[in-house]
Amino acid sequence: MPGGEGIKIFARIKPTKRPSRLFDIDPDTNAISFNIPRDTANGILVNNARTNFNFKFDGIFGMDATQEDVFNVVAKSSVDSVLEGYNSTIFAYGQTGSGKTFTITGGTERYDDRGVIPRVLAYLFDVCRKDTEAQYSVYISFLEIYNESGFDLLDAAHDEGVAGLDDLQKVVILEDENGGMHLKGLSMNLANSAEEAMNLLFVGDTNRAMSATVMNDNSSRSHCIFTISVESRRAGTDVIRRSKLNLVDLAGSERTHKTGATGQLLRESKYINTSLHFLEVCIMALGDVQKGSRTHVPYRNSVMTMVLRDSLGGNCKTSMVATLNAEKAQTEETISTAKFAQRVALVQNKAEVNEERDPKLVIKRLKAEIKELKGELAFLRQTGGGGEGGEELELTQTELNHLRTKVKNFLIDPDPAAALSLGEQFTFKKMQAAFSASVSYTHLRAHETEADL
Ligand code: ADP
Ligand code: MG
Repeated sequence: MPGGEGIKIFARIKPTKRPSRLFDIDPDTNAISFNIPRDTANGILVNNARTNFNFKFDGIFGMDATQEDVFNVVAKSSVDSVLEGYNSTIFAYGQTGSGKTFTITGGTERYDDRGVIPRVLAYLFDVCRKDTEAQYSVYISFLEIYNESGFDLLDAAHDEGVAGLDDLQKVVILEDENGGMHLKGLSMNLANSAEEAMNLLFVGDTNRAMSATVMNDNSSRSHCIFTISVESRRAGTDVIRRSKLNLVDLAGSERTHKTGATGQLLRESKYINTSLHFLEVCIMALGDVQKGSRTHVPYRNSVMTMVLRDSLGGNCKTSMVATLNAEKAQTEETISTAKFAQRVALVQNKAEVNEERDPKLVIKRLKAEIKELKGELAFLRQTGGGGEGGEELELTQTELNHLRTKVKNFLIDPDPAAALSLGEQFTFKKMQAAFSASVSYTHLRAHETEADL
């Protein structure tokens, strides 16, 4: 796509006391290389024909990187973009236990452990508060996708106790005639402050934990999308901007990928997360679209890819954080995650500012303009007509006859330089009368242009 911008990919390595010595990070080139000696490859890599891998990223967060580092490098510019009217998405991808939730939401033990969402909220509301030129409205949605069904994590039904997933209303995807997508049943909750938004995050997270119990599973099999929708109006304009920031904590990738680079058969289907599988399929297709060897991207195959359609190859600025487990036993998964990130980096998006004229604001402005013009007109009539009550006086029959004669003489005057004077006080009534007189005398017209007034 010409003029597009690639999805930015970052790697984050989860701290461990026992990092494997099979990989190496080059901070200068943002590359991670794996060197697997052949004799130890067995049992770690399915495809042991290849033992060297080199993966490039837009940035790498090593084991000592802080939550603040991740926010500053990955998320801060996303908030800035959203405030400018661009859609933005940050998604974490990696095997279970590699740090996706820690990155997106954060840890609860220490204040410093707060992740991207709390930091984004604090920064966003801070910028909004300081910007006196514009008015902002912020809404929060929290969607969980489990087994190809969407659930609203902020649905009040959770409060009444959920015995099973059937107790919850499903979120349904609807498409309009323009191909726009709407999530029916997903609430948008107004948040007036970072505290209110944080409370919604807390409510949603609690509900996520609860539904995980109901699902008799852990959260590693569901995807969560925390969406911050921002509406802004700049003072003195009719323009309204609407943009979204999606912060996505995907299901564990370990059940997804094809084994090895050669595209062997998928693992048993019961272990495959359909959404993540189709995410891979879409990313592959998008790569082919880029190369021109394909035009269709099968977003419709899963709920998650439909919800994230714009984030993948569409109107959105997207970043991916690939979370990596540095332990030796996890090398295969780590390489597979890094490999997936390389394909994601090839996807080109085309983000545009989402703005439109708000009809309500246009009408409001036009009404104000009309009111002002009416006032001006009344004033002109008043001063021009000299009438006391503001209304212009009617012309007397004598004045009318006098005017008609003037118009007639003007029209028959052969002198091209002749001028028509309507008397000392020029009023609308006089002008109207002169005009209708000139129309009735059209047969006399000598000065067509002047008579046209
Ligand atoms: P995932 O969501 O990918 O399954 P988690 O984010 O839940 O993984 O991480 C698993 C565990 O590791 C959690 O206890 C988490 O607090 C811890 N953890 C993950 N990443 C980091 C990190 N960068 N620094 C410190 N602890 C981390
Ligand atoms: Mg998690």
